[in-house]
Amino acid sequence: MKKQHVAIITGGGSGLGQAVALKLAESNVQLSIVDISEEGGNDTVRLVKEKGASAIFIKADVSKAEDVKNYVDKTLDTYGVITMFYNNAGISGPGTKFAENTIEQIDQVIGINLQGALYGLRYVVEAMLKNGGGSIVNTSSTAGLVGQQTVGTYSATKHAMIGITKTIVAEYASEGIRVNAIAPGATETQMVKEYMEKNPNAADIAVNPVPQKRLGTPEEVAELVAFLLGDKAPYINGAVVPIDGGFTSI
Ligand code: NAD
Repeated sequence: MKKQHVAIITGGGSGLGQAVALKLAESNVQLSIVDISEEGGNDTVRLVKEKGASAIFIKADVSKAEDVKNYVDKTLDTYGVITMFYNNAGISGPGTKFAENTIEQIDQVIGINLQGALYGLRYVVEAMLKNGGGSIVNTSSTAGLVGQQTVGTYSATKHAMIGITKTIVAEYASEGIRVNAIAPGATETQMVKEYMEKNPNAADIAVNPVPQKRLGTPEEVAELVAFLLGDKAPYINGAVVPIDGGFTSI
């Protein structure tokens, strides 16, 4: 019999998180959709249910540790276990050169992208250990692999996602926890559309250096995440997988 999986997806109300929810729904994974946006989160829950899978929405600001503990506790109360975690909520920041950032802008990006992701891992790993393990995908970025202009704080948080991925492998692989990171290039989601509206030249800047000369799609990223989270990747651990049309390979 196939194992019944339970997944938490942060930032599940839009973009990559929503695409992953819809992909996992095809395998009947039971889902906790976590987002600060009630509208987006509820929208994803509705779309998942239309596919015949189970989902609940849990409102949370991932930069608040108490909200993070609450989404873990509520998932355990509802489904009993957590076997998958897509640690994904994030924002891109103001899109200005680093010395033009306000301290508040730096703190906000760190609070959501880094502290939020670390808090999630803190509580989810603890819960997974009680049930013999689980699999995790952390969301880095091509900006977590190479330097890019106007995303300084973002880039720092996305490099950090690779560090914590490797640490968790070192500490918990022997206890059944598997964790990988993905490094998407510019992908057509709300976050990127908003960034491009703020920065009129960004579309050209994003596409020109990509050998495949296009942006990625959320569905392409969802295929990768579902594979890494799932039972068909049992020996992939601590990998950082670019999905970027070749951007970081040249
Ligand atoms: P998106 O804006 O479409 O979705 C992000 C979701 O996170 C939204 O639903 C938003 O409401 C939610 N969110 C924002 N702040 C939150 C908070 N404090 N607490 C809880 N939820 C919050 O963005 P996306 O493009 O799908 O990005 C998802 C992740 O992928 C991010 O970590 C981003 O850095 C990463 N990423 C995206 C791209 C890309 O090009 N789209 C590339 C590389 C990495």
